[in-house]
Amino acid sequence: IGPSGCGKSTFLKCLNRMNDLVEGCKITGSVTLDGEDIYGNMDVNKLRKRVGMVFQNPNPFPMSVYDNIAYGPRTHGIRNKKVLDEIVERSLRNAAIWDELKDRLKDMDIRVVSGMDGLIEIAEYKTSDILVTAIVGMIGIRPTVAAIKAGKDIALANKETLVTAGHIIMPLAKEKGVSILPVDSEHSAIFQSLQGNTHDSIEKILLTASGGPFRGKSREFLKHVKLEDALKHPNWSMGRKITIDSSTLVNKGLEVMEAKWLFDVALDQIQVVVHPQSVIHSAVEYQDGAVIAQLGTPDMRLPIQYALTAPERVESPAKKLDLLQCASLTFGEPDLQTFTCLADCIEAAKRGGLYPCLLNGANEEAVALFLQDKIEYLQLFDLVRETLEHFAASDYRTVEEVLEADAKAREFVRSRVGQKQFGCVK
Ligand code: MG
Repeated sequence: IGPSGCGKSTFLKCLNRMNDLVEGCKITGSVTLDGEDIYGNMDVNKLRKRVGMVFQNPNPFPMSVYDNIAYGPRTHGIRNKKVLDEIVERSLRNAAIWDELKDRLKDMDIRVVSGMDGLIEIAEYKTSDILVTAIVGMIGIRPTVAAIKAGKDIALANKETLVTAGHIIMPLAKEKGVSILPVDSEHSAIFQSLQGNTHDSIEKILLTASGGPFRGKSREFLKHVKLEDALKHPNWSMGRKITIDSSTLVNKGLEVMEAKWLFDVALDQIQVVVHPQSVIHSAVEYQDGAVIAQLGTPDMRLPIQYALTAPERVESPAKKLDLLQCASLTFGEPDLQTFTCLADCIEAAKRGGLYPCLLNGANEEAVALFLQDKIEYLQLFDLVRETLEHFAASDYRTVEEVLEADAKAREFVRSRVGQKQFGCVK
């Protein structure tokens, strides 16, 4: 599940290819709807037994499915705000679009679902074994919880779920005996580096960071960063939200929390290492001093594929790494003074409880405002910090408490931006 632009399309391509490689691999896919023409450029007859996707590149591909479910709307990957608004308006607030879609698909074996109920229905779909959660943001919590309760393994590309509700997700997964398989490249690297070793022999985790497009820049420089600058990541091609998060280093902060939950280590066992070449995707240091890392070209197809084949490996279309072409690999410490968001993430993780959720909610809201060109780049940093300073958070036991804290953080951010004294609000 997930919108385009967040890795799901890559996932589906991998699955489609692997379908031939892995015996008995069946796929429940999702059709994303852009409110315009869902199958205008597809072979409709193929849709009868297959599910395709419409995403930002114009070449939808058909793929084998176990059963067919459609889910929308498609919003990511659309850079034009006016078009985006129109689509969201038409798709989300206008039930007629669903009726139209249902009508157009009525002679096919495709069920059209929408909204959170639709996500949950897909998540607990009876015949699937694994749920790929590629949805953006903490909206992924409910479907993930539903899937775990239904006994599905989770291939997790949605780190916000673990960041905000790790305290619920991990014990539940343990109770239900399901695996949470990392898709995030760093966590996949750690997962790969852990194979064949015992948990108690881990000394620390070395979480690598490219440093984003503004590595080495000053606070003064960041003042003048524009949306289009922040959307250019030097090494990875990703969705808009995560690309902004990578530029602010919030992404790395969330990944620290994600690693803590996934690998059950203490915070001080996780070290962020800036490694601009993105060749070493992360590493594990063991008690005997051995450091085991996973290296490769920066291509999401590898971690995605590994989440589906682990511990086995199959041929991948990704470009192979040529060490002789790597002139040098460099490493440095993250600049926590300039990139205060990373410091704030670590602080939130230390405080625990609902703090990571508050931070994440504030960040999601602030990133959305920045993407809409409503706030300046550094205001995003300020909003995250202010949220952390503003709230006194407690522990949590239920998803409702998590959602409530998230809503509070978002509301706080919106109210701060609404206040004139906040400064340079556009
Ligand atoms: Mg990552």
